[in-house]
Order: sequence, then C-alpha cells, then structure tokens
Amino acid sequence: MLNGLMMNTPLSLIEVLEYGAQVHPHAEIVSVRTEGDLHRQSYRRTLQRVAQLAHALVALGVRPGDRIGTLAWNGHRHVELYYAIAGLGAVCHTINPRLPADQMAYIVNHAGDSLLFFDTTFAPLVAGLRADFPAHTRYVAMTDFAHLPDGDDLLCYETLLQGQPEHYPWPDLDENAACALCYTSGTTGVPKGALYSHRSCLLQALFSTVCSNGVMKAGDRLLPVVPMFHVNAWGLPYAAPLTGGSLIMPGPALDGASLFALMDNEQVTGAWGVPTVWMGLLAEMDQQGRKPAVLERVVIGGSAPPASMITRFEKDYGLDVMQGWGMTEMNPTGSMSILTREEAALPVQERIKLKNNQGRRLFGVRMKLIGDDGATVPQDGQASGELYVKGPTVISAYYNNDEASAKSFDDDGWLATGDMARITDDGLLFIVDRAKDLIKSGGEWISSIDLENLAAAYPAVQECAVIGVPHPKWDERPLLVVVARPGANLDKTALLEHMAGGFARWQLPDEVIVVDELPHTATGKVSKLTLRETYARHLSDAH
Ligand code: AMP
Repeated sequence: MLNGLMMNTPLSLIEVLEYGAQVHPHAEIVSVRTEGDLHRQSYRRTLQRVAQLAHALVALGVRPGDRIGTLAWNGHRHVELYYAIAGLGAVCHTINPRLPADQMAYIVNHAGDSLLFFDTTFAPLVAGLRADFPAHTRYVAMTDFAHLPDGDDLLCYETLLQGQPEHYPWPDLDENAACALCYTSGTTGVPKGALYSHRSCLLQALFSTVCSNGVMKAGDRLLPVVPMFHVNAWGLPYAAPLTGGSLIMPGPALDGASLFALMDNEQVTGAWGVPTVWMGLLAEMDQQGRKPAVLERVVIGGSAPPASMITRFEKDYGLDVMQGWGMTEMNPTGSMSILTREEAALPVQERIKLKNNQGRRLFGVRMKLIGDDGATVPQDGQASGELYVKGPTVISAYYNNDEASAKSFDDDGWLATGDMARITDDGLLFIVDRAKDLIKSGGEWISSIDLENLAAAYPAVQECAVIGVPHPKWDERPLLVVVARPGANLDKTALLEHMAGGFARWQLPDEVIVVDELPHTATGKVSKLTLRETYARHLSDAH
C-alpha cells in the first residue's frame, strides 16, 4: 500500500465551535432559561465561555477520560458543557431525567460521574437521589448565584466561570477519544451506554447535513425540541455551528403553545422532534389557524409519525416534513426522507406518500436485512428482515457491558437494530415492526418484559402480556392483558399499585384488561401479534 501524503489532523469537536465562531459570527444560541428569561449569545461569545468553563473544570480536577454528568434541558449552558468537556478530552454524560429513579442511580454509578451539572428544575430530583449516587460526585447548579438552590455544598455554574480566562490552550486529542456518553433505556436488564467519539460525532454532523438535501444552511434558525439528553439532540449542537445555523433552545417549555410562540418570536425556520411534540404544535397551529411565521421544515424522528401528521403539515400548512430514523447506538441518524428535485416537485399527495417511510440511508451507514433463518434478505421492497447496520457512526460495543455487547453484534461486527424492515431497490427504508419487545411512548422507552415480570409476580395474576398500542398523543402506550388465577379476585387498581414501585408513573400500563385466555402461537408463546391486532384501536377509539 502507498499512503497518501496528507496531514493526519484529527477530527475535533472544539474546532467545530471555533469554526462557527469565526466563520458565522452572526449566528447565535437563544435559550429559554430556567431563570425565566430569554438569553442570547453568539457562537463567538459561546467559545469564550466554553474556555472559561474548561479552566473551571480543570481547577475542579477534571482529567481526560473523566465522565461528567448533566441533567439539563436544551440551553446555552448545556451546549457550553458539551464543548468544554469534549475539548478537554473528558466525556459529557447526558442523563435522561425521565428515567425511573433506580435506573438513574444505576447509570450515574456505572458511568462514575465525578461531577454532575444540573438545571435548577432538577434540584429536587438530585437531592432525592444523592444518597444513591457515588460518594465522590460533586454537584454544580447550572444557574447564577441569585438562583442557586439550597444545599451547602452546591457549586454555582456562573460563579465557576467568573474571572476565568476567555481562551484555553486546547490539547491535541486523538479523534477516537470519547467525548459523550448516552444510555439507552427501557431495554430489559440495565441501561446500556453508547460512548461516542469526536470522530463519530463529527462524521455524523457532516453526513446528516450533506445527505439531507439542505436541511440546514447558514442563516437558518434551528429549534431542537429533541432533548440534549437524547443522543446529543440528534447532533444539532454540532451541525449548527458547522453550517452557520443559529440554535433556538426551548429549555423546559415544550408544549405546543410555548413552542409556537418561540418559533414565531425567534423566526425559527426548522425544528426537530418526536411525533408527540408535533401533535402539540399541530393543535396550536389549528387553534391559531396558521403556522409559525417563517417555519419551513419539521423533522420528525424517534418514532414513525402517523401518515395523517405528515399530510396535515404538508397539505394544510405548506411545511416540508422530513422523517428520520436512527438509534442511540447510531449517534443517532441512519436515514432521512430525502426527495430528489423531481420527487419534490410532485403533487402533494404523491410527495407525502414518498415521505411516509424512513427515507434513504445516510452515507456511512451500511444496511443489511437478515431473515429468520439467518440468511441475508434481498433489498427488493418485498422481503423483510431484521435491520443490521455498520459504519463509523455506529457503536462497536456498549460501554463496560460485555454481556450486552456480546448479544448485539453478529460475527462480522454488524449491529442488530431490533427493527424489522424492508428496503426497496432504490433505497427507501420501511420500518415495518419492532423485534425488540419495547414500547415507545412520547419518545421514551418502556420495557414490556419488565412490566410483565412485575405483573406476573402479583398473586391474583395467572398469565399476562404487555403490548404497545397506538395512542393519538403518545404514539404508543402500554396495555396489560391478564388472565386471573382461578378463584382470585383481581383488583386492577391494586395490581397497578403493586407495579408502581418498579417504574416511573408514566411507564405504567394505561389499562388492565382481564380476559379468560391469552392467544398463543404454535410454539406456546403468547401471540403478541394477535393481541396487538385485537387491541390496535383500543386507545385511539377512547380519545
Ligand atoms: P432510541 O435509541 O431511543 O433513539 O430509539 C431507537 C429506535 O426508535 C429505533 O430502533 C426504532 O425502533 C425507533 N425509531 C426511531 N426513529 C423511527 C422512525 N422514524 N420510524 C420508526 N421507528 C423509529
């Protein structure tokens, strides 16, 4: 082999912000803050504050490779943490505040977070869980001194930055150095960590912008409703400074009316989020009889949006809908619904049909379909199989979890997604089912198996099954179908109370349905397919 004679400069995330600060000096981050104000600062100012934060982190003893937790909404301080931590070669561990308490305690211990930065909204949560967090963890409230919550040993974010130099001598890092850690949730067993690198985040930012038909460009105003604790807000905090878009950060205000007002006031051009969020926005748009002032595009991912949602956005409000598919393990985007120039010019009805799928793969994300017999299934638009992926933005193992890693990859190193799919010969991906026994409600996971195990332990339950059924607001909700033990008096409320201990409230089934018998497959397993068909309209009809 003859090597090319090119500089082997590593891909580095801090350079993304340096680039944005220099090349797009007018782009900014606008944040709805927990202090109740609307804060704006340019990328240039952000870079200065990131340097100050880096000095503060080093003064607190942060070293390369250390994990630093965040429990925070989308806002400029969270962006500052992303860049300062990564720039030092440490790892920003974003924690999902919606996780059940025991899982949150598990991941903070598993990650071994030395510092935990939190928005004041989460002060009670942190106070309640501190006894279960590592003894060495120190806590920083992401606010100024005037808004500091009670707690003797709490550090104050703005105080830490005060007086620190506005430049930092960023170290040269290997592009494979870890920079961010995000745990998947809802799976059976413990949450599993996806540990991203500078290289994977930067490549994802590049691939997802280059392969998405101009989803963002300089001067755009981009609203990530998708939280920064869901796979780095789908990479937007990196993609925006690269392309020169501004970030409009909604903080904790995620309801339709608040989002509409923010979009209107801040001239938002494009927004990213899960279907549940867009339900709320659509309702507000219907209420006002218009779309937010200059909104052009809505990107929907995390779950399949109902066809009616794509139709309403496109037909009633003239918005360009893009659907994305991906996973935490993929940094996260794998495909986007991208139309060619010709397709985009088709009549609205035909265009919508082309968008009612998971789109086409991004460059760098290789895909294959595997059938029940383990053989590769052709990508002919007809046959379906489990979707496997491979590429530089896909994890190669879970963080410190050999058991989960051993189960998730095939012998050639491809990651099993747990999604059933078909792919047409012109590259359109259709997710047709989920092989993993999970329910996704409002963008968050619930494990059917964990719910079943807990329900089955209730004395009056003989057999049970949990299924996800479509729900107009939350995409999917769990239903518990049970057969009572002969002679037992099954009290549904008491059963749900019994289950409440092991789950966050929102994860509990919406309803308990008592039946005489559960349907079974030929191999004696409960036929979830039959149950899903039987109860498909159970919750949608109720609304
Ligand atoms: P997460 O790791 O929480 O991001 O969840 C990833 C999973 O969400 C995928 O494996 C799919 O099951 C599901 N998912 C994400 N986006 C879509 C989509 N556009 N359509 C259908 N399912 C999706």
